[in-house]
Amino acid sequence: MKFTLSRSLVVLALAASSASYAADYPTKTITMIVPFAAGGPTDTIARLLAQAIGTNLKQQVIVENVGGAGGTIAAARVARSAPDGYTIFIHHVGHSTAPSLYRKLNYNSIDSFEPIGLATDAASTLIARKDFPAKDINELLSYLKANKEKVTLANAGIGAASHLCGMLFMSAIGTDLTTVPYKGTGPAMNDLLGGQVDLMCDQVTNTMSHIKSGKVKAYAVTYKNPVATLPDLPPLASAGLTGFELSVWHGLYAPKGTPKEIVTKLSSALQAALKDPTVKQRLADLSTDPVAENRATPDALRSHLKAEIDKWGPIIKKAGVYAE
Ligand code: ASP
Repeated sequence: MKFTLSRSLVVLALAASSASYAADYPTKTITMIVPFAAGGPTDTIARLLAQAIGTNLKQQVIVENVGGAGGTIAAARVARSAPDGYTIFIHHVGHSTAPSLYRKLNYNSIDSFEPIGLATDAASTLIARKDFPAKDINELLSYLKANKEKVTLANAGIGAASHLCGMLFMSAIGTDLTTVPYKGTGPAMNDLLGGQVDLMCDQVTNTMSHIKSGKVKAYAVTYKNPVATLPDLPPLASAGLTGFELSVWHGLYAPKGTPKEIVTKLSSALQAALKDPTVKQRLADLSTDPVAENRATPDALRSHLKAEIDKWGPIIKKAGVYAE
């Protein structure tokens, strides 16, 4: 209740002094909320962007990890935050799947936020602990048929991209595995590396270095074609598994009611960050693509988010997976 009141007061105050407030913005540290635990792809992308956006705006942007429930806990918190430009939010494709996956959300993925812009796109990879028996995707499919009750599949919570990918995978092979939810890919990957869990489908951003160093086994990628950095990794569709054109896109948002001039400043800072040579190089190293400048805009993110909500809704409904 206290939260709601302070949010309303901020909205009123901003409406009264919007122009001068926005002209001076930012005058203090900005917090970027990350909806997953530290150490995963969203956290990595967030930290890179936070640094570069902060340099551009001449103010520090700090990252706060608010993991749990596939990103929906963080989204609800941002939706209730003061729309003053000092709380911003990064989220991925999960922001578009949550409305279909959750029977009840106490925010609206579109109406509770001001889109700032799209940021990155990345493929996902289906991986296993290093000593998992199957050596390629075909062996994996046979192994899962025979041993499904023994196999565990990690994800970063219901609503996470890894959950979506795992769900599509199980539905495509017609086999239910035991899923193990974490608060983000960071802790899930630790358990996979430690051999406590068997499989995971997660962004190449986080998996590539482990695939290249042989610390995990990789079976397939979720793009139509192989990704340039892992040319030997076949698309899941090549093993006859359809419905896998999954791109894990990330976007930046502010709470609804954040003044337009501030959103424009943040959007310009995002565009500058994506052109920053250090950011570009680091993203290239992680096989993660920065979006073109015209997609790092509020309009592009708004229409992409709507299109993705429409795309995933029927697929999730067909798979019959819901969270309470
Ligand atoms: N990659 C995770 C997911 O499955 C989240 C994270 O970035 O930690 O959505």
